[in-house]
Amino acid sequence: MATETQPAPTATLPPCKLWIGGAWVDAASGATFTSENPATEEPLCEVAAAGAADVDRAVAAAREALTGPWGTMSARERGTLLWKIADALEARNADFARLETLDNGKPIFESRYVDVPAAVDALRYFAGWADKIAGETLPSHGPFVLTYTLREPVGVVAAITPWNFPLIQALWKIAPALACGNTVVHKPASYTPLTALKFAELAGEVGLPPGVLNVVPGGGAEVGNALVAHPHVAKISFTGSTEVGKQVMRGAADTMKRLTLELGGKSPNIVFADADLDAAVKGAYNGIFYGKGEVCAAGSRLFVEKSVYGELLERLVERTKKLEPGDPLHPKTRLGPLVSAKQRETVLSYVETGRREGAKVVAGGEAASVGGKGYFMQPTILDEVTSEMTVAREEIFGPVLVAIPFESADEAVAQANASIYGLAAGVWTRDVGKAHRVARALQAGTVWINQYNWYDSGAPFGGYKQSGFGRELGRQALEYYTEVKSVFVGK
Ligand code: NAP
Repeated sequence: MATETQPAPTATLPPCKLWIGGAWVDAASGATFTSENPATEEPLCEVAAAGAADVDRAVAAAREALTGPWGTMSARERGTLLWKIADALEARNADFARLETLDNGKPIFESRYVDVPAAVDALRYFAGWADKIAGETLPSHGPFVLTYTLREPVGVVAAITPWNFPLIQALWKIAPALACGNTVVHKPASYTPLTALKFAELAGEVGLPPGVLNVVPGGGAEVGNALVAHPHVAKISFTGSTEVGKQVMRGAADTMKRLTLELGGKSPNIVFADADLDAAVKGAYNGIFYGKGEVCAAGSRLFVEKSVYGELLERLVERTKKLEPGDPLHPKTRLGPLVSAKQRETVLSYVETGRREGAKVVAGGEAASVGGKGYFMQPTILDEVTSEMTVAREEIFGPVLVAIPFESADEAVAQANASIYGLAAGVWTRDVGKAHRVARALQAGTVWINQYNWYDSGAPFGGYKQSGFGRELGRQALEYYTEVKSVFVGK
């Protein structure tokens, strides 16, 4: 058995087929793709690659399930079932965490203590809502004895998720969708399909009726497009890049699908001179290097008040240089490999662009390996950056921080808001009034004060501007998985 100082053993792989109608099936075409371990560059398994015919099968199963035992189950029973699934997932934490780490490369410390617990928490949070989703009675005007509203499921929901938090992102969609009585077809990211498959099997074992949750791994263009165009999919819940989000939005127009988009970010983390600098250094560090910087809300633009800029940057660089990439299965590792060779190439090319445009690399900046393998890179900080540079404008999605000084709160807010994105932001100050003024002025769906990268199943999460629309988590998420119907009862 693994101890907290020993590398963890390998995980149990799911069958790596498609999960449709409560059973494992091959893709109609027989096609497969390889899921790879980014730390070792070795294949983990061959995964069935769904195509349009498989999407048809999965949507048909999800549609049928709407009128089967799931459709007649009471809301309270639905909530109880979701809670039981949460218990089963919690009991299998170690196995799911190892699988997430093998597939994505994130440190086992994160998978075990953040990803799996957060997925369990989302299930429990929405399990609690299942029997509290209600309509209203309305004051009648006209020849009616009663006017009321019903909150009904939208129908078949297509969940399309990215590779950075595979299990969390899946559950942020599946849990509210099921709590509201919908059925789901889930397309996980091609780099990281394994925990989604394993979760669907687990939910089936616990008693989720066949067809309520289906999983169809496969290429984004093919499976994603088929789901977006499908006439029997009522809603798309998409998390991913802004570029693909725009394609999904265009595609969803033809069938007028309900749509929520959780997209990219370039989030500002603002440190004022009166902040607790120890806490701010830690917050800036975790804000960018947690999750290898492959975090939509990563605090990738650090704005620091000029009078403490030099001191803060020096302390941050010193701390960053001690962060070494390591075997992600080792409990002490805090920086794993990037998800793929391609992602590392993209991130390193941004560092090169930064250098070319005049930024100075003050920490990291190079590829790395562990035991001669893996898509690792050094945690990187760029100084002498201006807001006009590519590295300050575009989402890099890796462990790369740009640091920029500012002179006043107004200037910091103006620079922070000068972005097409508006996902999250951080503010570090001991001045309570300033903290709240700046929080209100920032164009972001989430603002952390003297904290960064903190989430709660009860707090809505989503973007302003091109970071998307709609909200996940919290009571607000339920609105995006239900339709409202008004019923008038005549005299
Ligand atoms: P991505 O390339 O946009 O892919 C996201 C998902 O969409 C994947 O499952 C992908 O499939 C699929 N897809 C690709 N092309 C598609 C198409 N034409 N139609 C429908 N689906 C399609 O994003 P990613 O690289 O996986 O993830 C990183 C991005 O996600 C970053 O921009 C990050 O900021 C964002 N993100 C946002 C949030 C948030 O809550 N706002 C959270 C996490 C991540 P394949 O994997 O098969 O290509």
